[in-house]
Amino acid sequence: MLIDSHCHIDGEQFNDDRDEVVRRARDAGVVAMLNIGTGDPGSDDFRKAVAVADQYEDVFAAVGVHPHDAKLYDDAAENHLIELVKSSAKVIAWGEIGLDFHYDHSPRDVQIDVLRRQIRTARALNLPIIIHSRSADDETVEILTEECSYNEFCGGIMHCFGGTPKMARSLIEIGFLISFAGNITFKNADNLREAAMAVPLGKMLIETDCPFLTPVPLRGKRNEPAFIVHTAAFLADLLKVSVDEFKEKTSRNFTEFFRLDPDLLR
Ligand SMILES: [Zn+2]
Ligand SMILES: [Zn+2]
Repeated sequence: MLIDSHCHIDGEQFNDDRDEVVRRARDAGVVAMLNIGTGDPGSDDFRKAVAVADQYEDVFAAVGVHPHDAKLYDDAAENHLIELVKSSAKVIAWGEIGLDFHYDHSPRDVQIDVLRRQIRTARALNLPIIIHSRSADDETVEILTEECSYNEFCGGIMHCFGGTPKMARSLIEIGFLISFAGNITFKNADNLREAAMAVPLGKMLIETDCPFLTPVPLRGKRNEPAFIVHTAAFLADLLKVSVDEFKEKTSRNFTEFFRLDPDLLR
């Protein structure tokens, strides 16, 4: 069994064949998918992300405003997202939130304020957070460490990990799981492979981040949850464990972290 800890199957890229995509994932052994809502919190984007989770029993959802859209975060946005969390038991996390200083689609000071505010909102709702960090790793670790020190529990998932082994260790220490995406299979990704070797298997997750980051050997195609088998096989080989053990442990990490029904793994 496999779990895709981060996908975007509510996106329009999947409007024509979403049923097929979910079926192919199940056929590939994917037992759960965490669908991450993104977009304008003033639109229906997040409602759609939750609707997809409500539609398929093995799809869960997260809602939270991406750093690209931090400038759109206000009281109305927050109330809308809180309402969605309360509307469905399938919403199990808040995110993806974080910092993206590569694209800078929102001003950096706004990204930082909105990240802190969303961490506190997630804590008030008792939800783990899904973190996105690009070209802002030091700032991300600093803010998470500081914000988490106010709370007994403040864990979550560092998605599409792209940092150093040191960053991974700092995040694990404050309660985070580290999730690797298909880009770890790319030829020039030695830094990701080095980081993965520094993460204990008991703290690791895998994800597609589909429709993006399609793993080798399918690079160039639209990514989808079924393709996670390639990332799993690649990482098992890198970490010198059997593919079955790798799949089983990363799946268990996910279900235990979110306190999901262990029968999911049967
Ligand atoms: Zn992301
Ligand atoms: Zn994402």
